Amino acid sequence: FPVENTRNFSIIAHVDHGKSTLADRLLELTGAIDKTKNNKQVLDKLQVERERGITVKAQTASLFYNYEGKQYLLNLIDTPGHVDFSYEVSRSLSACQGVLLVVDANEGIQAQTVANFFLAFEAQLSIIPVINKIDLKNADPERVEKQIEKVFDIPGDECIKISAKLGTNVESVLDAVIKRIPFPKAHCRNPLRALVFDSTFDQYRGVIANVALFDGVVSKGDKIVSAHTQKTYEVNEVGVLNPNEQPTHKLYAGQVGYLIAGMKDVTEAQIGDTLYLHKQPVEPLPGFKSAKPMVFAGMYPVDQSEYNNLKSAIEKLTLNDSSVVVHRDSSLALGAGWRLGFLGLLHMEVFNQRLEQEYNASVILTTPTVPYKAVLSSAKLIKEYREKEITIINPAQFPDKSKVTEYLEPVVLGTIITPDEYTGKIMMLCQARRAVQKNMMYIDQNRVMLKYLFPLNEIVVDFYDSLKSLSSGYARDKAYSVGKAICERLKDSLPRQLFEIAIQAALGSKIIARETVKAYRKNVLAKCYGGDITRKMKLLKRQAEGKKKLRKVGNVEVPKDAFIKVLKTQ
Ligand code: GDP
Ligand code: MG
Repeated sequence: FPVENTRNFSIIAHVDHGKSTLADRLLELTGAIDKTKNNKQVLDKLQVERERGITVKAQTASLFYNYEGKQYLLNLIDTPGHVDFSYEVSRSLSACQGVLLVVDANEGIQAQTVANFFLAFEAQLSIIPVINKIDLKNADPERVEKQIEKVFDIPGDECIKISAKLGTNVESVLDAVIKRIPFPKAHCRNPLRALVFDSTFDQYRGVIANVALFDGVVSKGDKIVSAHTQKTYEVNEVGVLNPNEQPTHKLYAGQVGYLIAGMKDVTEAQIGDTLYLHKQPVEPLPGFKSAKPMVFAGMYPVDQSEYNNLKSAIEKLTLNDSSVVVHRDSSLALGAGWRLGFLGLLHMEVFNQRLEQEYNASVILTTPTVPYKAVLSSAKLIKEYREKEITIINPAQFPDKSKVTEYLEPVVLGTIITPDEYTGKIMMLCQARRAVQKNMMYIDQNRVMLKYLFPLNEIVVDFYDSLKSLSSGYARDKAYSVGKAICERLKDSLPRQLFEIAIQAALGSKIIARETVKAYRKNVLAKCYGGDITRKMKLLKRQAEGKKKLRKVGNVEVPKDAFIKVLKTQ
C-alpha cells in the first residue's frame, strides 16, 4: 500500500469525552464494522472495560477510506484516558504522526485533556482538536474553542465540532486526518525496522506483538531478531487489525499491524523493542521509558489452599500487563502472598477485577502504599543492603528513624481544573495534603487551572473523592482519622471476650486513637438459682479474679475475618 496514502493516528481525551464512541463511528464510516448494528465501544474488548465504561488496553484498527478518488489506509489506535494508563497513551503515540484531541463540548478542557495534549505535543505530532457532544443541551462549543486557543495555543478555527453519538460531522474528522496529518516517513526498500508498541498474550498462539513498521517489509517465514534480547525467531503470522486480527501476506513500511513469532511471554516482546531481519541488522529505534509502579499493595488468596491457583492466575495476567511488578511476600495473618506494584489505584482495581472475572480468583488486597526511599546513616545497614539509599515498598520493612539520614517520597505534578468559586477550598485541601502550588491560570471567565506538586502518598487513595466532596473534614491531621477508622473497623470485627480489649493506634510512641471492645459477662450464676447468697458472691469474685488474670496474660484470638476487614481497602 502506498505510504503516501497511509495515516497513523490516535484519539486522545479525558475520560468519558467520547474517544470510544468516536472510534465506533469511524469504524462504521469506513465499513470496518456493520452500521446497522448497535455498536458501542467496539474497541473495548475486555469485560472490565465494558463494565466500567473505560478503555484499559489500547486497541488498533486499520481502516480503508476513499477520499477524492484515492483509497487511504488509516490506522487508528484507541487509547485509555485515565492517568494510570498514560504509559499506554505514550506507547500508542510513538506509532503515530497525529492525534485527534477530543474535548467534551459541555465539560470543556479537563485535567487529562491537558496531560494528553502534552504527550502528543512533546512527541511532535499533528494535533486536531475535536469538540464532541455538540448535541447536548448545555453544550457550549464556542467557549471550549476559546479554552483550546488559550491553553494549547491552537487557532480556534482548527476545531472540528461533532456529535460522535449522532454521527454529526464525523466525516470531516476523517477528511482532516488525511489533510492535516502527514504520512509516515517510511521506506519499503530499507531494511526492516519494526517498533513493538504493544503486546498481548494468547494462550494458544503465544505473544501477539503489535508493531509499527518504520522501514522495510516483513512476511511469514522471515527470520527476525529482537534488538532487546538478541533472540532470533521465525515469523509465523503477520496481519492487520481490523479491529480483529486479519492475517495478510506481508506488512509494509508505514503500516501498523501484528506479528506472531513463537515468543513465549510478553517479556520476550518488550514494549519499545525493535525487531529487524536476521540478515540485516539495524540501529534500534529509541525505546520507551519503562512504566514505574507507584502504588503497592499486598495480595493474598482468601484461602491458602488457593495459593497455587492464584499464583498461576497472577502469572498469566502479568503476561498481558507487563507494567505490574510482583514480589513474593508473606504476612502472619494472611499467610503466603505477594506484594504487587501498580501504576495507580485504578490500575490496581482493574487488575484485581480482571483476576476475579477472567481467572475466577478471589483475593484479599491490602491498603495501597507508595514506595519510599531511605538514605541510610547506619553503617551496619548500609553493609547489609550494600547500598546507601534503599527503596521501601513494604511498610513493614521501614528502617528505624535512628538509622536514617532522610526519607524521600514520590511527588507528582497535578493539574486541577475547577469552576473558580471552588478555588479557595481546593487550595486549602491541597495545602492540607502538603502540596506546593506551581501555577494558576484562568482558562476562561470562570474556570481556573491549578498546578500543584503533590506528595503521591497524600493523593493516592482518596484525594479525588475529597476533591469532589469538598465539604468533608479534611482539616485534621490525616493520621488521626486513619487511626480512628482502623480502630473502629477492628472493634466491629473482633468478637467480645471475657475481658476488655483495648485497641490503640500508635504513631511512633504516641497513641492517636483508641477503641474498646467491652467484655461480655459470662453468666456464672445461671446454674445456681435459688438461695445461697455466699455461693453467688464467691462465684462472682472468682470470675472477677479470672478476668483480671486474663486481662494481664490474655491473648486475643483475632479471627482472620477481622484482619481481612482491617487490611482490605474498603
Ligand atoms: P471515552 O471514555 O472517551 O472512551 O468515552 P466514551 O466513548 O465511552 O463515551 C462516554 C459517554 O459519553 C458514553 O455514555 C457515550 O454514549 C457518551 N457520548 C459520547 N459521544 C457523545 C456525543 O456526541 N453526544 C452525547 N450526548 N453523548 C456522547
Ligand atoms: Mg473509551
